[in-house]
Amino acid sequence: MSQPSESPIAESPGRTSPRPLWIASNRLPVSLGFADGELHATRSSGGLAAALQGVAEGAPFDWVGWPGCPVPEDRRDEVRERLAEERLVPVFLDEEDEELYYHGIANQAIWPLFHYFVDKVDFQERAWQRYVEVNQRFADTILGAAPEGARIWIHDFHLMLVPRLLRQARPDLEIGFFLHIPFPSSEIYRLLPAREDLLLGVLGCDYVGFHTHDYARHFRSACLRVLGLAAEHDGVRFEGRRVGIGVHPIGIDVQGFERTLTAPRTSSLVEELKDRYRGRRLILGVERLDYTKGVAHKLRAFERVLERRPELASEVALLQVIVPSRLKNPDYAALKREIDECVGRLNGRYGSPGVTPVEYMHRSVDPEQLAALYRFADVCLVTPVRDGMNLVAQEFVLCQDEIEGLGDPWRGMLVLSEFAGAAHVLARALLVNPWNLEQSADLLEDALDMPPDERAERMRTMADQVRALECTTWARHFLDRQWAAADANQSHAVVALGRDDEAELCESFARAAKRVLFLDYDGTLREIVRSPEDAVPSAELLEVLAGLSALPHTEVHVVSGRHRRDLEQWLGGLGVALCAEHGFAWRSRDGGEWEENPGIDLSWIPRVRSLLSGVTDEVPGTRLEVKPCALAWHYRMADPDYGAWRARELHSQLQHNLANLPAEIVHGHRVIEVRAAGVHKGGYVARQIDGADWVLCVGDDRTDLDMYRALPPEAHTIHVGVSVADARFTIPSPARVRGLLRKLLEAASKPA
Ligand code: UDP
Repeated sequence: MSQPSESPIAESPGRTSPRPLWIASNRLPVSLGFADGELHATRSSGGLAAALQGVAEGAPFDWVGWPGCPVPEDRRDEVRERLAEERLVPVFLDEEDEELYYHGIANQAIWPLFHYFVDKVDFQERAWQRYVEVNQRFADTILGAAPEGARIWIHDFHLMLVPRLLRQARPDLEIGFFLHIPFPSSEIYRLLPAREDLLLGVLGCDYVGFHTHDYARHFRSACLRVLGLAAEHDGVRFEGRRVGIGVHPIGIDVQGFERTLTAPRTSSLVEELKDRYRGRRLILGVERLDYTKGVAHKLRAFERVLERRPELASEVALLQVIVPSRLKNPDYAALKREIDECVGRLNGRYGSPGVTPVEYMHRSVDPEQLAALYRFADVCLVTPVRDGMNLVAQEFVLCQDEIEGLGDPWRGMLVLSEFAGAAHVLARALLVNPWNLEQSADLLEDALDMPPDERAERMRTMADQVRALECTTWARHFLDRQWAAADANQSHAVVALGRDDEAELCESFARAAKRVLFLDYDGTLREIVRSPEDAVPSAELLEVLAGLSALPHTEVHVVSGRHRRDLEQWLGGLGVALCAEHGFAWRSRDGGEWEENPGIDLSWIPRVRSLLSGVTDEVPGTRLEVKPCALAWHYRMADPDYGAWRARELHSQLQHNLANLPAEIVHGHRVIEVRAAGVHKGGYVARQIDGADWVLCVGDDRTDLDMYRALPPEAHTIHVGVSVADARFTIPSPARVRGLLRKLLEAASKPA
């Protein structure tokens, strides 16, 4: 592949994953039908199937997907058996599934939105529910079929929830996801009602791939703006894993096209085209009927050329192939009418007896016909207003190349929209903005008039790129990266608190003579929320904390950076000891007065307060929290980019201002806190462990590392999220922490 992937994960040359591979896509590579009651299943070879052919040669794989037509209940076993012979596993969809999941959400919500056609989005809650159900059905089918540790590769926008559903059920799986359409700018993406669910769904995988760097960039930005997850350029950390992000532009089946091109029938079709277009040059357009393809833009550009040079009407023909698609959808039917009208107008204006400037075929053409058209055409005009990749552009370039046994290479030139993913890999095409009519017409004229040497040079360069992108290489390359990303997550998972570790903890907890638990609050017991005052504890959390602290010989300490007022209000009546403001103030489990760390120098507070107040006024959505021995500037609610920028600036300003003062700066999760020197959570916990033979400490933030460090090595230290040097284990989420606490409670409550 000529386009390097962005991921820095080292490639694994020569290594072949020993794990069995499972592919999942909306459609199986098979055409299924019943003729006279007899089942017919013919394997199709295009697109993804061709790409995976080379992978199958190394190690065969299984494929889960919809067979493409309704199958009556009583024929399903027969279909399953028949497809199993080809290692295909069907997911059956009835007509309502097709209507709601496939048309309703995939085609009428995700497809238009991801292609920036906001006004065509029709998001219906009922259809969304069905999308969720059908994704679950896909996940269940995979889970029922794929063995332990299998590698799964999920394809495209129909199945965006599947990675997470698989991950939740089976953390052992290696999971990759590839999006074959654009990922839109976060400003567009965030219009989608299900924006969180789709992103969370994809983040269940180990590795996610896109055709272009722009789509990957938009995905990162959506993670930040929709979920608040700050991504690195090649990955994003989520629930204790790193989801790798890579750029993998898909290529075409180069060998397949070469075979078709050199077939005798293709050569005779080229000869027929020569006869038919003698004395005229051919501009070719090949598109599936879709509003993203910019066919009307193309026709207008051609019309503009004819307005400028009417004599070209008899010297040039535009042959437009439109492959019928989704005609049941009114948007597509309207588009068809619009194209018909444009063609009619153009031919009415510039046609004459024997001269038809636009020839129009609304049907598909067979592979030899298509290859002959690509070989013969003088210009291929590809003007989508948005297209994930666009394979037609690559196919045209390849078919024009120097190929043994075929004469007359590089006759034509490619005019290509800059809004197609293909523009990122075919940079020597004449790149147009289809919205700019004059430029499109200029470049179409340039393509027609281009000197042969320049044409040959550009086409040869592009053909080399198309060969390098070849689809089998694409698939192998992606799977290599997926494996490396999953490998990294698996080795990281060694420190993740597993079921056996949990069982051991419970057992030792139940046996211990004196047990002490130190629990951070935000991000540990309770999920971080946008507004800190909303992080109220749930009834379930209160119950488990009260239960634990009511156990004999057991102390529970909630050790937080929060103001003592919050802790008192939320957790005051539970019999839990409270430590607030990062260790500055505490009170015992029996309630009573709060005590404070004595002899702390707070003289720096007024100066820092005025600095932080100024920034709070300037950056919308930020908030200054004033605590007795600390000041915290929260920027969680600010624009994520702007907030992070101002936080960096503030951090260095504070470092400068606080030099030699008895205060320290702690940069936590979207908060910059300045606290009195010598005050930290570690000081508090160190004073509480006398006589304890079992200590548990759970945190999620940098400020919690002080607790882990202050504890003896035999203490059980667990960090939420990614691993840190000072904690023994990691745990993915606050929900899992609450689950662990419940298990401890149950273990100690069981009769001995
Ligand atoms: N194609 C086809 N039948 C035809 C004309 C074209 O199958 O009659 C193929 C063409 O060879 C290409 C695909 O349809 O591989 C179109 O892919 P592209 O990425 O350009 O657009 P998509 O339809 O996937 O959005």
